[in-house]
This record gives sequence, C-alpha cells and structure tokens, in this order.
Amino acid sequence: MSAIPLVVIGGYLGAGKTTLLNHVLSHAGSRRITVLVNDFGSINIDASLIRQRTDDVINLENGCVCCSIGGRLVEALLAVSARPDAPDLLIIEASGVSDPVRIAQIGLLDRAFRLDGIVVLVDAERVESTLADPYVGDIARRQIEGASAIVLNKMDLFSEPSREALVARVEALARSRIIVQATHAAAPLDLIFDRHVMPARDTGALTPSVSHTPRELGSFSIATDARLSRKKLKEALQSVSAKLLRAKGFVRLESDGASHELHVVGNRVMISASSARSGAQSQIVFIGMFDRNDEAQARAALKAAEIST
Ligand SMILES: [Zn+2]
Repeated sequence: MSAIPLVVIGGYLGAGKTTLLNHVLSHAGSRRITVLVNDFGSINIDASLIRQRTDDVINLENGCVCCSIGGRLVEALLAVSARPDAPDLLIIEASGVSDPVRIAQIGLLDRAFRLDGIVVLVDAERVESTLADPYVGDIARRQIEGASAIVLNKMDLFSEPSREALVARVEALARSRIIVQATHAAAPLDLIFDRHVMPARDTGALTPSVSHTPRELGSFSIATDARLSRKKLKEALQSVSAKLLRAKGFVRLESDGASHELHVVGNRVMISASSARSGAQSQIVFIGMFDRNDEAQARAALKAAEIST
C-alpha cells in the first residue's frame, strides 16, 4: 500500500486558509480529497464553508489539534487511514493559532501518511502587527519558520515597493525559499498537489500534551434566533474589545433574513451573502485574548443589533 499524501495548511487567524482550501477543492479535478478542519472556537465555521465543495470533511473544533485536542487528531487520522478506499490526498486545515509543524509530526506518527507539504498563509496586511504582538507573535513566527511553502496573501492591498518589502520580511523569517504572492488566497495549485522539500527544524521535540497557546487566548460563541441590523452589527463588532483577534460566523440580516458570512480580521468587518448554510440562527465565534467581562460586553452589543419582530 502506498502512503497517503498529507498537506497541512496553516497560518495565523484570518490569513485566508479556508479560502485557499476552497480554491484547491474547486480545482481538484478527479482527485479524492479528504479534508480535516480544526477550528479553535466551539463552532466550526470553516467546516461549514468547506462543505459547499466537498462532503468528505472531518471537524475538530473547540481547541487546537497540535496540543489540547491532539488525541482527537490521532483518532481522526487512524479512521482515515483505515478506510478501505483511502483518499488520494488528506488536507488538514490547521486552526489559526496552531503550529502546523506539530500537526505534521502527529500526522507522521501514522505510517499510512507521508508529508507532502506545509503551506502557510501570511496576511500581508497584518503580518507586521501580529509578529510584534507579545502574546501571539511567537505563534505566527513559528508558522512562517516551519512552512515548506508560504503564500503571502492580500497583496492586492499593496503597491510594488511595499510588496518587495513584505516579501523580504517573510524571507528573513522563513526557512523555505518558496514564497508566492497571492490575492484572495488564489495560490498556484502545485503548492498543494506537488510535494515540496521540508525545511530543517531545530526543535524536534514532540510534546502534543503541552499547550503552546498563551493562557489568555480563548474563544466564545454567541447564537441568536433574532435577525440583525447590518449597520448595528458592524458597530457592535467594532465596539467589541480591542483584544478580539478574529470573529467569524453566519448571520441573518434585516427583514429578508438571508444568510450572510461574517468575518472580522483586525479592524476589518466583512459581511457578504452566503449560501454555505441554511440554518435559522445567527452564530458568531469570537477568538481573542479576552478578559472576564469581554464576553458579556459582546453579548450586550449583539443584543443591541437585534431587530425586534
Ligand atoms: Zn496547539
């Protein structure tokens, strides 16, 4: 039996991992791809977004698969490798705070898999502030260091001199020499479908039981049956604590109640029509370095955005 190729897609919160994955799945041709999606939050929004493209999705939410829920990753991998009809490729979408190298190491504990690549997305707009962050800077740096290929995403936001500076910045951190620029995570497909050589890594110790995420990092989710005012929802999200790193979800807006996808990355709030989910509820997951009162404040702010019927 030949080994099943494994590709890990990593990158910090909001860098475009799910968008890249959907891009890959829509160009997969006849390849049979199994996707394993890890979401740090308690509701797996990314898995819902991917289900539009494939049914073969395994959800691992509510923690980080390289540490706190590593055991569930091992079980899921065993289940995939035990299938009589093994996939042509397994893609693991790492959560935004996980270490993709550790995920790859866990994957390789099962001899049924061979590692073909660790593709890491970097948000060109936010990379500098993320690296400078005292809590999560190390996580983002490790992700870049460990990549076998880097996709420098959202480059449409920059003009040429800034692009060169961004590439140089990432080059200085990365061990891989494969650094491609992309817009809307539309990276060349050979990054996923062809095998790359892994860069060497100094720290080889595999300690999946030890959490590498800062103690303060947490998530909570809010669900409501009420429809929301788009304008007030935006205001509510902008008023939520500065410690918010990422929010995402599905929301029902205004009087028609149509479903929309919601993404908050840094100060950007993006709301767009979505066919990914037909549930009646609005659900939003918040990820950040929260204090005790932040969840209550977010709940109150969202409550204020509800439209009374
Ligand atoms: Zn982890």
